[in-house]
Amino acid sequence: MRSPSEMRIIEIDITNACIHQCSNCTRFCGHHKTPYFMEWEMFKKSVDSLLEYGRCIGMMGGEPTLHPQFERFARYLAEVYPGQHHVPASNQPIPVFSNYIRDKNYLQHECLNRHRGPGLMSATSKRYFQHFDLIQKLFSYQSINDHNNPSLHQPVLVSRKDLGIPDEAWFPMRDNCFFQNQWSASITPKGAFFCEVAGALDMLFNGPGGWKVEPGWWKRTPDEFGDQLQWCELCGGALFQQGRLSSEEIDDVSPSLLKKLEEIGSPKLRRGAVSVLQSIPAYDGKEMPNIRRRYLSDFTKRVSACNQAIYPEGIASLLPASDGASGVQRNQMLAQAEADWLFLPASPESHLDGQLIERLKKVVLNPEVLYRIEGPDGNGWLFYRRAKALRQAGFDGIAHCASWEEFLHFWPEEQKCVLADGFDRFQNPDLEVWTTYAQGAATEHQDEIERCLKKIRSDYQ
Ligand code: SF4
Ligand code: SF4
Repeated sequence: MRSPSEMRIIEIDITNACIHQCSNCTRFCGHHKTPYFMEWEMFKKSVDSLLEYGRCIGMMGGEPTLHPQFERFARYLAEVYPGQHHVPASNQPIPVFSNYIRDKNYLQHECLNRHRGPGLMSATSKRYFQHFDLIQKLFSYQSINDHNNPSLHQPVLVSRKDLGIPDEAWFPMRDNCFFQNQWSASITPKGAFFCEVAGALDMLFNGPGGWKVEPGWWKRTPDEFGDQLQWCELCGGALFQQGRLSSEEIDDVSPSLLKKLEEIGSPKLRRGAVSVLQSIPAYDGKEMPNIRRRYLSDFTKRVSACNQAIYPEGIASLLPASDGASGVQRNQMLAQAEADWLFLPASPESHLDGQLIERLKKVVLNPEVLYRIEGPDGNGWLFYRRAKALRQAGFDGIAHCASWEEFLHFWPEEQKCVLADGFDRFQNPDLEVWTTYAQGAATEHQDEIERCLKKIRSDYQ
């Protein structure tokens, strides 16, 4: 076991609402009758308690972007606990998003910020996409996993006593627990915990709560973990090296935990998504690595190409900008369009080519950016129909627009971007601006930064 002060991340669990109910989730999503959402005062207190911690403070769920105050929380965390450096973005489309985030974590979080700064753990939901621009600007580190690719999750709701593991074998196992030694301590609405799984168990089974959230709580050492270690008795975290596919959405539980789930009226149990374990199963061929990213060690698989939350679902064309529509008609067009992205042709002759549409649907576009498309395959502007610029303008703002030209002014200049030729060929569209930034950054670790940039470039050759 380790002191939280030695960990790379301390998580603040702001909600246990999630878009999935993965097998053996460490937050037990699906077993709560109603999800919780951390209060603002508790979040603020949590962040403030960690100001001297010096590593990554993570916003975690469930899916944290589902929290109704996600933006307020994220802005506060980034304001009082910023990373020292933030690499710029070019706003160009991103073809392979998982690789882009992997590169950004490596350069920005590990090399430039030395692991200090705000972090986000997300299943890249639609709400993630709605906050896309904010997230890229505020967070120094992101751990993403949309769970669309095969990912193994080890059993958690298992008691060693049910499996007949005696004290002399158990205590060394517990002290070597993968989660406590590789993952994080956490804060839930009920206090601070030496281990994030213990915090989630306390929430699930109406436990007594954690330590008082006050500056320095995270300096406790294992000999001070005290009663919180009782949660290990209800936890399989230290017992398994094998897992079940997260997509099966079934939890492996031992008999005494089954009883506890019955007592709390678990909805996931009621719908039969639980398998009772009597012993440690063999799970042939499903051994998990003993590394920090054990749940899906290949970062490139963390966002799938079929992720419908962040890749454009559809692109529809509006009437051309020259058609002289009234403000009211503009509102009607936006409301009736049957796609999440809209193309405004510059002239009646300018249609968006079908092949270009297919290429655009394979890249991640920033929903807050107005893309200018110029070329034989299309001449006009592309925008997300729920872009913040339009939400801020509102129905009345759009209705009072005298022309499409005026409408296009809703986007600030820094949120406009000319779509580059061959935009889907740049594996990492920001690498050049990152390189310029990183080479000019005042840090003592320039050698490491050069190695990092070289490694990122070599991945794309
Ligand atoms: S995405 Fe994460 S938090 Fe949500 S159910 Fe799956 S493992 Fe749990
Ligand atoms: S056994 Fe469970 S509660 Fe105990 S340290 Fe491991 S993961 Fe945390």
